[in-house]
Amino acid sequence: MYNKLTVEDVDVKGKKVLVRCDFNVPLNDKQEITDETRIVGALPTIQYLIDNGAKVILCSHMGKPKGKPVPELSLAPVAKRLSEKLGKEVIFAADDNVVGENAKNAVSNMSEGDVVLLENTRYRAEETKNEETFSKELASLADLFVNDAFGTAHRAHCSNVGVSALLKPAVAGYLIEKEIKYLGNAVNAPERPLVAILGGSKVSSKISVIENLLKKVDKLIIGGGMAYTFEAAMGRTTGTSLLEPDYIDYAKKMIDEAGDKLVLPIDTVVAEKFDNDAPSKVVEGSIPDGWMGLDIGPKTIELYKNVLKDAKTVVWNGPMGVFEMPNFAKGTNEIASVLAELDAATIIGGGDSVAAVNQAGLGDKMSHISTGGGASMEFLEGKELPGIAALTDKA
Ligand code: AMP
Repeated sequence: MYNKLTVEDVDVKGKKVLVRCDFNVPLNDKQEITDETRIVGALPTIQYLIDNGAKVILCSHMGKPKGKPVPELSLAPVAKRLSEKLGKEVIFAADDNVVGENAKNAVSNMSEGDVVLLENTRYRAEETKNEETFSKELASLADLFVNDAFGTAHRAHCSNVGVSALLKPAVAGYLIEKEIKYLGNAVNAPERPLVAILGGSKVSSKISVIENLLKKVDKLIIGGGMAYTFEAAMGRTTGTSLLEPDYIDYAKKMIDEAGDKLVLPIDTVVAEKFDNDAPSKVVEGSIPDGWMGLDIGPKTIELYKNVLKDAKTVVWNGPMGVFEMPNFAKGTNEIASVLAELDAATIIGGGDSVAAVNQAGLGDKMSHISTGGGASMEFLEGKELPGIAALTDKA
């Protein structure tokens, strides 16, 4: 379990504080921000630092400029939007070297409560290789470091891991603190019963998650495309559904080892083809030839509701069906509704399940929606996240 210092544990007044944010927001072809969720997510830490008299130096990557300046991936639009959100000017340190003369000048002119945003850290080739030259340059700007970018916590780059080693104390911002609290507790010190729900397309991409979670949970519910490989392992036919034949033996082993911990579908919504308007029906057990499973069936929904009703902690990763098609979104939406009503810690672990919960309009009913797809997966796999491990431990 991580026990890291946070922004509230350090005195920031008058200090130059370098903050690694996740401003990797989507832009359209006019360089306009199309989703500001990540900017909004970063505000509590930034506002706290402003209110407490820090000189706030923000940095982030955006997209993949591959180690050179790419004007379309400049953070300039983020500075503008951030200024609007904070109601105060955010000075954008336009600088192809990220920490060049322009950035240094901007920082040396700062007063308490000022905010400077550096240019995209991935303009520098060293960034993703965690090379010390760039880490040193970043560290030279500030007195202490705050990491609030959970989305990149599973990577060891200059702007998170490299700089943490050089700029002490290196502490967690509110976003990372919340991720540790919810995802960390859910996996390592949950209030029980702990139920995990795993869905999505493939068993192969979630093997490490399944293995780690089976050690920790009271029940593991499986849905989505990955369920059919388990169903094949139980001797059922799966028609034209998603299937990973190479993983059937593995699924058999899981079923044998997990016993009644593992909860699998009992019925399926099947269609003639992968199309929202294709003829469909509900089948129990085996899926007939020529039919494709695209959602969990009504009896399965009831079974899963029953397993979930007494849960005190629920972790969910991956939809129960092809939720992008309205006719096959019912299983996913019903599970989202059950979670919204539970008296339990409900943690949505990144990726498509976040989209599904938001599509159902239930995002604000969950205890925690993880901000990092890859990072939350690695958390659930039980792996150490380098960006968090590098932060200073509480005494
Ligand atoms: P993943 O990225 O592995 O979490 O998978 C998410 C994707 O799985 C979504 O795009 C879903 O549409 C897809 N999915 C879920 N259930 C099924 C299914 N029964 N057949 C095909 N794709 C599915």
